[in-house]
Amino acid sequence: MADTGGAVGAVIDRDGLSALVRVLREGGRTVVGPTVRDGAIVLDELESADQLPYGWGVELEAGYYRLRRRTDRAAFAHSAGPQSWKTFLQPQRVRQWSAERGTDGTLTAREEPPPTVSYAFLGVRPCDLRAITIQDRVLTGGRYADTDYRARRTGAFLVVAECTEPGATCFCVSMGTGPAADGGYDLALTEVLDDAGHRFWIRAGSEDGARVLAALPRRPEDAATTGAARDAVAGAAERMGRTMPPVDLRALLQGNPEAARWDEVAARCLTCGNCTMACPTCFCTSAEDVTDLTGGHAERWRVWESCYDLEFTHLPGGPVRASGRSRYRQWLTHKLSTWYDQFGSSGCVGCGRCIVWCPVGIDLTEEAWAIHREAEAAGGAPQ
Ligand code: SF4
Ligand code: SF4
Repeated sequence: MADTGGAVGAVIDRDGLSALVRVLREGGRTVVGPTVRDGAIVLDELESADQLPYGWGVELEAGYYRLRRRTDRAAFAHSAGPQSWKTFLQPQRVRQWSAERGTDGTLTAREEPPPTVSYAFLGVRPCDLRAITIQDRVLTGGRYADTDYRARRTGAFLVVAECTEPGATCFCVSMGTGPAADGGYDLALTEVLDDAGHRFWIRAGSEDGARVLAALPRRPEDAATTGAARDAVAGAAERMGRTMPPVDLRALLQGNPEAARWDEVAARCLTCGNCTMACPTCFCTSAEDVTDLTGGHAERWRVWESCYDLEFTHLPGGPVRASGRSRYRQWLTHKLSTWYDQFGSSGCVGCGRCIVWCPVGIDLTEEAWAIHREAEAAGGAPQ
């Protein structure tokens, strides 16, 4: 994706957003975006922009998620839902190969061909864009490159929706991942609702994005719209529901493996793994082999796996991390600290999903603050 180097922006209305979905679909892309289903705002294939969650917002807290009606018709005034884009780029279950036993007993194995889907993701939050970048680093290059992920990711068209309505569990400002988008997208949208109407400030971030933008009904950007858009994003930055302690989290976590707080959180954690399933950067998978009852057909599936699963580190002598305490500590320390050693960044983008979808409401920001306070009290807190 070539950067267009600060392309001139434009303004589109709701009909422009409808045209965006139409143009992307006519270009052969499968458009995926937010929509209301089963009492949540989920990500799903969109046939038209009418399926966007116009007029819906969400109420979030630790272990709590509810849809709520808004008094306006905003399309993107909601924070992260139960899924992330990894649902499409690295699906929960992917068949890798299958094998058939012929009547003469010979086995014929067939590798699953890479998918040919061409995605357009509409409404990607800046924090989730960073999560995609993190997964790209792991799954498109190096030792763990994944052909299925690469096929889904290559050519995916990304439409970012800057965040104007953070949730009570969001902390992208602490992680430096939002609420503004700073590149890596094809198109960026900022939704504006004021007395001058409902509209979207739109900019291209790639040549593909510029081509799509040129096909939309639009008008030149104006100072009232760009000013209102920037104010809305700046306002979102001021209303983050959560913060991380403003210290070197990498050093904090690595320096306190024996904090008493690990026992306290372990007493609450069910080791259910929901947090890893909801997290947009968690990428661990396992292999599952299945055969039919006759033994004539076998398949291998790649499935999401969680570091909370006892089998995750199973060795002949038993699991490496047998206690819930060691598994929670491993997860949080990896996310906020050792991820830097492996991949050069934090493994957390501040989306808040793990807080919302934890059945007992464990909040990683609260845990980080507690460990920080404990270290401070002991005189060993990093700056
Ligand atoms: S922190 Fe919450 S979601 Fe994660 S494993 Fe523990 S109980 Fe489950
Ligand atoms: S650790 Fe939690 S807040 Fe951080 S990216 Fe994962 S789900 Fe989001």
